[in-house]
Amino acid sequence: MSRPETSHLFYQSRQRRPMLDQARGVYMWDVDGKRYLDGSSGAMVCNIGHSNPRVLGAMRKQMDKATFGYRLHFETEPAEFLAAKTASLAPEGLDKVFFVSGGSEAVESAIKLARQNAIAIGEAGRYKVISRDPSYHGCTLGALALTGYAPLADPFEPMMRVMPKIPAPRAYLDGLDPDDEATGRHYADMLEQKILAEDPETVLAFIVEPIGGASTGALVPPRGYMRRIREICSRYGILLIHDEVMSGGGRTGRFFAAEHWDVDPDILVISKGFAAGYAPLGAMVAHKDIVANVLDAGGFLHGFTYAGNPLACAAGLAVVEEIEREGLIRNAADTGALLKSELNKLMDRYSIIGDVRGEGLLLAFELVEDRATQQPLAKELNAFNELVDIAYENGLIIYSRRTRGGHSGDHFLIAPPMISTADHVGEIIEGLDLSLRQFLDRISQ
Ligand code: PLP
Repeated sequence: MSRPETSHLFYQSRQRRPMLDQARGVYMWDVDGKRYLDGSSGAMVCNIGHSNPRVLGAMRKQMDKATFGYRLHFETEPAEFLAAKTASLAPEGLDKVFFVSGGSEAVESAIKLARQNAIAIGEAGRYKVISRDPSYHGCTLGALALTGYAPLADPFEPMMRVMPKIPAPRAYLDGLDPDDEATGRHYADMLEQKILAEDPETVLAFIVEPIGGASTGALVPPRGYMRRIREICSRYGILLIHDEVMSGGGRTGRFFAAEHWDVDPDILVISKGFAAGYAPLGAMVAHKDIVANVLDAGGFLHGFTYAGNPLACAAGLAVVEEIEREGLIRNAADTGALLKSELNKLMDRYSIIGDVRGEGLLLAFELVEDRATQQPLAKELNAFNELVDIAYENGLIIYSRRTRGGHSGDHFLIAPPMISTADHVGEIIEGLDLSLRQFLDRISQ
């Protein structure tokens, strides 16, 4: 069958990608039989690998019963059990789970719940949600207003109320030591300064990716940062929202990334790895007191038709059970440590690698012109597309973004599924080594 002209792609097709045929474990095959190692789990989604038979079995079982039950007509077992399971994994007190179908919807839900809570407790003057730059919180207008990535947001500025931003704590760019408490304090105190500048009585919440995703390239906060952020939010009566859309679900070596610092938010959001690509699913998980305030004041003015879809929830429940049964969080920590040390060895050999960072299997490296100054590669080199395309030709899928305000700086996320082994790490490093050599050859011509 010949391929029809594309009518569903809404981006410039530099190069149409091959048609996917099938995917199993960490590998994917196109219709010509070429094999790819999924070194980024899609977009950091397919955490337990592709075509897991137990998850597919659980979904088939649910499909034979019912694939839809509208939330105002029925409750469903998969939604109830998954909500209970999620609450049991979430920090103390965060036991109310609001299902959605993706990350942007989860973020929208979090900021609207926070706003309704403020009104319910007589603090209607609070509406500003401070976020960081760079950051990514989604592409719907509410989430976009928080996203610190100007090229995505600028065209829509007249249509939304852009929210205040503070710099993300990129110590490696500022020449600061991330292991020094003073560095964490330096960046966290920017939040307090921003709150004071905006008028504390108008600030509703602060949203943060505990370990950064595509926007910062797996940025791990400096020592003491997360705890001080929590203290500052509590001091001013501001809700702390953790965006764990990418970092949640185990890939950093903890189910929620914030567990690395033992810091609890008031609301958290999760999506990508939650149903790990088996179905569109996300959730907002909120502290029971916040939900009680909103319900007592008349109810949450928010909801989506597909929320709590039983098929998606059956997939999510089976994914979480698979993670526990197979010890995949431990594996993400161990295999991630091995992969990071191998990436560091690559950095020793390639001076264009300016930084290697991340935790567990949410890792990234950044390409630079000069490691000492962290000067980015020339924009014309288009490194963030070129290296991805070369790796793709070599059968390795990686994920890239241009950072630093979206105008320069190229980083690459290396985030294979949590089922990855030492052999897969070897294959990834071999593929990267070859691809970096070919990239260097290309730019030296
Ligand atoms: N928040 C974070 C941290 C993300 O990484 C993403 C997506 O990449 C989103 C929110 C938005 O999720 P979605 O694309 O499912 O709407």
